[in-house]
Amino acid sequence: MKPAPFAADDELGTRAHALLGSVFGLPSFRGSQEQIVRHVASGNHCLVLMPTGGGKSLCYQLPALLRDGCGIVVSPLIALMRDQVAGLLEAGVRAAALNSTLAPWEADEIEQQLVSGELDLLYVAPERLLTPRTLALLARAKIALFAIDEAHCVSQWGHDFRPEYVGLSAIAEKFPNVPRIALTATADSLTRREIAERLGLGDARCFVSSFDRPNIRYAIVDKRNGPAQLEAFIRDRHMGESGVVYCLSRAKVEAVATSLVKAGIPALPYHAGLDANVRARHQDRFINEDGVVIVATIAFGMGIDKPDVRFVAHLDLPKSIEAYYQETGRAGRDGKPSEAWMLYGLADIVQQRRMIDESTGSDAFKRVSLGKLDALVGLAETAGCRRTRLLGYFGETPSFERCGNCDNCLQPPQLIDGSVAAQKLLSCAYRTGQRFGAQHLIDVLLGRLTERATEFGHDKLSVFGIGREFDEKQWRSVIRQLVASGHLVPDSEAFGALKLTETSRAVLKGETKVMLREQPAGRAPRVKSRRGDLVGAAPQLSNGDQPLFAALKAWRAETAKSRGVPAYVVLHDATLDGIAMTKPRSLDQLRGIPGIGDKKLEHYGRELLAVIEAAQR
Ligand code: ADP
Ligand code: ZN
Repeated sequence: MKPAPFAADDELGTRAHALLGSVFGLPSFRGSQEQIVRHVASGNHCLVLMPTGGGKSLCYQLPALLRDGCGIVVSPLIALMRDQVAGLLEAGVRAAALNSTLAPWEADEIEQQLVSGELDLLYVAPERLLTPRTLALLARAKIALFAIDEAHCVSQWGHDFRPEYVGLSAIAEKFPNVPRIALTATADSLTRREIAERLGLGDARCFVSSFDRPNIRYAIVDKRNGPAQLEAFIRDRHMGESGVVYCLSRAKVEAVATSLVKAGIPALPYHAGLDANVRARHQDRFINEDGVVIVATIAFGMGIDKPDVRFVAHLDLPKSIEAYYQETGRAGRDGKPSEAWMLYGLADIVQQRRMIDESTGSDAFKRVSLGKLDALVGLAETAGCRRTRLLGYFGETPSFERCGNCDNCLQPPQLIDGSVAAQKLLSCAYRTGQRFGAQHLIDVLLGRLTERATEFGHDKLSVFGIGREFDEKQWRSVIRQLVASGHLVPDSEAFGALKLTETSRAVLKGETKVMLREQPAGRAPRVKSRRGDLVGAAPQLSNGDQPLFAALKAWRAETAKSRGVPAYVVLHDATLDGIAMTKPRSLDQLRGIPGIGDKKLEHYGRELLAVIEAAQR
């Protein structure tokens, strides 16, 4: 029988709602949280697929409090455990973590607490959990549930595979009657099946949430001078805010971080080539301080649950839509307006294709990789809504056609009949022998007497100078779109050379019409809208609220520093927003603000009221 939804007179429901308010300071559940909490608290297994920022933690933290015994949370990253535990302790939950950073006596103490029933939640690294010592310990303790966070790490085919996760199948074998809840933000069905199989969740219920992140604004922008465009983007829209910038290579990470610092933006590099201590220090600063920008290769990000990342910028094309979505998903976990901003140019497609060609993978692997790249290029070139395209890729049918919060919805590109331009470009590639890259083709079309043009006699060809109606940038856009639509392809043998394809002939003969996104001449227009109108789930602060917000932030920075925890562990931005907007005058009024539970009220209530009062004088 299907469990009934929470009824008001239902005991479990009443207790769940009470704890939601008193411990987490939240007025209501979000999405399927309520169903999941009920399911797990009643002793059932399940798999939870929810996007980053969807609120997965609550799905196991609350059932752990509702059930007898301690909830065991398997989590892959020590930094993540540490922050989660700090947040829980702040909220008055008896939480601890067992990992390799502990001194033996500290570990002993935590183990004692577990056995004597003094813990509500215990975070454990997978390799630690699987030691005979820990397993024996767990057998002696009362366990409320097992939560396996970042469960996609068991997937051999995924990008985050962790061999130690495979051993977690032992949990199902040794503790078959303890509820298991596996959680991930990776949506595809292959990964889902693998998780279910390896964690013994074959017939467990699967809760799938929408993967839409409405507070994230997507924009994909023509790449010209990457670092300069990035600097302008941050300066115009995100000065003083936290963000992540992704680059493909370590050298580029270093160069971009240096150029941002020169421009007065606090930026730190992060990549696998840096000393582990330096990496840890940079990550700590990013998490603990306000307004630090981290420039990183993909080595950075998993398990970072900093809620107030306001932008994720890609200076290079990722490998696939999956990777893009996971990386951009690190923005705006707190539900406040955030941006995913990517630069994209022809060289990116050429480079990614070359990396696939030169990889040692099987032909099947290369075919799959090329298909994934094509899908991402399609997203970059689409004139339609980015969000519907993204969700469609993950098999979701959104309820809207246009989201109103992506670059293409905000400034819809005009489509023009580009058949003649396409014909000119394709015949230029054909007549010059399909041996040249974009720059030379453009030079010939524009009738530039370059050394190369004269050397090969291309100035004598009929195509020389026939493309003067467009400028260089417009031709680049035509080329990119022809590559994206498969009428032109980078030659895998000759680096950078562009070749015709099977479909080119029909374009040349006028049988296939080519629609192109119109690219205005000269500089690309900036997305006009400024910060203030970013769409988000949360209401916006008015200018009058800003001074109080700033005062609250300063108080929070101070408090976080003296307690040795990240600022967001003290209070989230969204909670500060709520305070700045409603300006509570009493502890009771303060209590109604989301994010303020009993403990926070007890610890900070009076100080907050003092800050509010001082700011209004
Ligand atoms: P995930 O692990 O899925 O990325 P988190 O559990 O870290 O997400 O939650 C993301 C954010 O959403 C946190 O800031 C959290 O406080 C907030 N949140 C979670 N559940 C709720 C809720 N029911 N109401 C309001 N905010 C919530
Ligand atoms: Zn849109």
